[in-house]
Amino acid sequence: MSILFIFPANNPVKEWLFMDSGTAMTRCPGCGLCLPNSQHETPERFNASGECWQQYSDLLCYTVAKRDTGFIHQHAVDAYASQHSGGTTRNSSIAFGLIGLYLALEKGYTGRQVQLAHMRIARIQKNWPRLEPPAKPAEITVMDVLRAGTDKKKDAVIRQWMAAVWESWADRQVWVRETAGGLIDRSP
Ligand SMILES: [Zn+2]
Repeated sequence: MSILFIFPANNPVKEWLFMDSGTAMTRCPGCGLCLPNSQHETPERFNASGECWQQYSDLLCYTVAKRDTGFIHQHAVDAYASQHSGGTTRNSSIAFGLIGLYLALEKGYTGRQVQLAHMRIARIQKNWPRLEPPAKPAEITVMDVLRAGTDKKKDAVIRQWMAAVWESWADRQVWVRETAGGLIDRSP
């Protein structure tokens, strides 16, 4: 009888399973996700491995196809961006990602409301500071969402992912709250 063990993302045991099978691995420089190397091209404007980026593309197919009124797609975009700071990722991608997580988690914005706030903020502020990556990336990754068995579970894991990424940026939360608050007050 064979038993399939599903380990959480970033669990070292999972890596060992792949390593034992002789599969070459690649680690995402942003979120730390370790996946079999499948020669996917690294994205130009994101500090991510090509393999992680491929998983993200699959997730976006899911969120876009949902066509839900709350627009959970925006939350997935913000969680992924905020988890892939450093390297070639634009400063604005990180800032918008973090502001989106803040508005959703602490202000109760839906994805659609976050999207509208992003559009208003983008009209006011064009230059963003470089935010150094957290010392330790959040342990939940895009793979945990994709592995969830049902749509309902996927949506629940997206919320957990958002919270974990936001928590990993604890040192920058005050800056995000103040920046987002100031910009939203100024926007027409
Ligand atoms: Zn990644």
